[in-house]
Amino acid sequence: MWILKYIMEKKNKVKTIANFKEFVKEFGDIDGKENLEEIPCIILAGPPGCGKGTQAKIISKGIRWKHISTGDILRDSGDKDIKKMMKSGELLPDDLVGKELISYLKEYSKHHDPKGFIFDGYPRNLAQRDIFEEICRVNNLKLVYVFFLNAPESLLRKRIEDRGKTSGRSDDKSEKAFNKRMEEYNEQTLPMIESMRNGSNFIEISSNRSLEEISSLIFKKLDEI
Ligand code: AMP
Repeated sequence: MWILKYIMEKKNKVKTIANFKEFVKEFGDIDGKENLEEIPCIILAGPPGCGKGTQAKIISKGIRWKHISTGDILRDSGDKDIKKMMKSGELLPDDLVGKELISYLKEYSKHHDPKGFIFDGYPRNLAQRDIFEEICRVNNLKLVYVFFLNAPESLLRKRIEDRGKTSGRSDDKSEKAFNKRMEEYNEQTLPMIESMRNGSNFIEISSNRSLEEISSLIFKKLDEI
């Protein structure tokens, strides 16, 4: 039922969390312990089809950091309202995604001692950036790099079209969903990415490089920390 409530709120354009500090205070302590040692993390950001997921998998395999994809977490929730919204290409409400993310991190931290985290698809707007920073503060996570994988829309459209033939993702199969995802990206995600651009840990990588070139660039940067 609570999901329905969120969707109703979303329809009424109530999208922001009133107080992100309170929100994270209530939900955001991942393992209930005081974390004395910093855990490094990176963000992979960019438009749909830019290769965030592919790179996150390669990096995770290479350095054994945990890959956290909010898209995968939401897809695995099995909830039909969530599925419906994802199919349309819309971004889901910030508090829903925040809670799903935090409960996933909590469950993971119960059984593992993470060396680092790779965030793929989170944060995706300015409100989520605030929540993300607060989650990091509360749990002693240190954001070491933001990698912005950029590509022109024509290339992204082609990639998603090709991926739709095999990915099994309903949002990869329709042009309408792709257009909505691009609209959400331009309106919500791009301003967030731009807000991070001036940080010393921001690295933009353009799509004229091969998959291997991009991962070796990321590995090289991670070697420096
Ligand atoms: P992705 O797998 O990252 O391409 O995400 C697929 C879909 O999941 C998006 O189009 C959104 O509907 C939803 N989603 C994933 N991450 C987020 C997020 N951080 N905020 C809101 N919606 C998200």
